[in-house]
Amino acid sequence: MSSEIYEVVIIGGGPAGLTSGMYSARAGLNSTLIEKGIFGGQITYAEHVENFSGFPEGISGQELGEKMREQAMKHGLKIITGEVTGLEIQGMLKNVKTTEGDFTSKTVIMAGGAVRRKLGVEGESKLTGRGVSYCAVCDSAFFRDLKVAVVGGGDTAITEALHLAKFASKITIIHRRDQLRAGHVLREKLKSEPKIDFIWDSTVTAIEGAVMVEKIKLQNIKTGMTYEMPVDGVFISVGTIPDTEYVKGILPLDESGYIITNEKMETSIPGILAAGDIRHNSARQAITAAGDGATAAVYAQKYLTESTV
Ligand code: NAP
Repeated sequence: MSSEIYEVVIIGGGPAGLTSGMYSARAGLNSTLIEKGIFGGQITYAEHVENFSGFPEGISGQELGEKMREQAMKHGLKIITGEVTGLEIQGMLKNVKTTEGDFTSKTVIMAGGAVRRKLGVEGESKLTGRGVSYCAVCDSAFFRDLKVAVVGGGDTAITEALHLAKFASKITIIHRRDQLRAGHVLREKLKSEPKIDFIWDSTVTAIEGAVMVEKIKLQNIKTGMTYEMPVDGVFISVGTIPDTEYVKGILPLDESGYIITNEKMETSIPGILAAGDIRHNSARQAITAAGDGATAAVYAQKYLTESTV
């Protein structure tokens, strides 16, 4: 356990966390960032990011995450690899509990983002890594010339399906409604992809296979009809859930578990701020997460200047 008292501890190494880390370190604050996995957060799932300002040709999500990490560290941000397990408030100080020990800080920026939601059907857990995947960029090469299903109708599902079209022989998007949630640009791209077709108004009720995925069970939610479809892979893209389990009862959360902040990214606990996808009403874009991160760092600094902590 470190006896050092930090000025800023940032939880999460996606665009929000890395940008707040870059701002805090650049402002000369004793800042450290804790990340459990890969830097870049959800954008690392994106093969090609076209809508992050400053990159007119686009950039791979992994490269963008890496550049953000490099830039933050160049300005003096310390980075710890570990998992946050708890947050305690001790008067004006905050104690961030992690697998690498406790970190005491005057301010905390919660930027842990959100993780992919599970479908919650029979066979999903057993066959994860055996045909069930949550990341086309990571796993699509295993499905060359095979048939796959993509579950979901949002931007992520369509982005995953378009990426899979470079590898798989056929991609079937299964959506629980008869209209996609995904935006116009992605819907237009689908039109020029003959390998992709749709099953509308349907949910996957089970994923089956002895060792690897062999088939899925489906139900049409309008007619009630149930049927089976043989597939080699299932990519699940049904949204995200925030990484806030460990702050339940400590920080104000909305009904879905996202942290409630004001426009300065402040929570109702002085010195604790939140930025990016973890925040209620976030626009859930890499660029808005980065903007949240900068805002949070600016107001964390203001808090440190104005408070007596
Ligand atoms: P999302 O927008 O929340 O979409 C989730 C999709 O999964 C919806 O179509 C939803 O159906 C469906 N769904 C949810 N629970 C389900 C269940 N239990 N069974 C079957 N289907 C279920 O999530 P997302 O696509 O991951 O996108 C998250 C955010 O990231 C969005 O703001 C998005 O704009 C952003 N994003 C942007 C880009 C980009 O700009 N290129 C790329 C990826 C993500 P309903 O439509 O019926 O609710």
